[in-house]
Amino acid sequence: MDGKTDNDVLLHACCGPCASHCVPALRALGREPVLFFSNSNLDSREEYDRRLAAARALAAAEGVRLVADPYDPAAWERAVAGFEGEPEGGARCDRCFRHNLGRAAAAAAAGGFAAFSTSLTVSPHKNSPRVFAAGREAAERTPGAPPFLEADFKKKDGFLDSVRRARALGLYRQSYCGCKYSKRREDARTRDAPAG
Ligand code: SF4
Repeated sequence: MDGKTDNDVLLHACCGPCASHCVPALRALGREPVLFFSNSNLDSREEYDRRLAAARALAAAEGVRLVADPYDPAAWERAVAGFEGEPEGGARCDRCFRHNLGRAAAAAAAGGFAAFSTSLTVSPHKNSPRVFAAGREAAERTPGAPPFLEADFKKKDGFLDSVRRARALGLYRQSYCGCKYSKRREDARTRDAPAG
């Protein structure tokens, strides 16, 4: 690994498809990622397992390590308490980013990583500066955490690249962000869509 430690960048992977763009993008910057699957925001154990399986398939294809954080939806509910009714992209999402990136900061500190980052910025629906703010805040409040690497992965057609790579690898691609609130919104959208 060109003299770098084995624990270079711990990449919070929101899902396999988004991370599929981040792994080569980080390598192009001379960094070597380890995937950290920590997504207690997901609305069910079944969805968690489906997305984890996709992330594992990506890790195997790219030859990277993957660390899976236990699914703990009660902790996520506590993190977003009082913000449940916020629209997608609002304050609930900021709390969600802070929770998952806090988990990544703690894991990066425990593992002696040089930096941590996230695949969340691949999505055109995620505001990158707000993700960065959550990452910086997680680094500051976590004892021993390394710096948060502010990588805006949606640049250079990152999202399109993630779609292409996920298709090529046959990875499961979800139709909603992840939590039960985003699932309800997606269910309502598909139910109300005109037939045909
Ligand atoms: S919509 Fe997505 S980012 Fe926002 S709270 Fe739900 S899972 Fe988290």
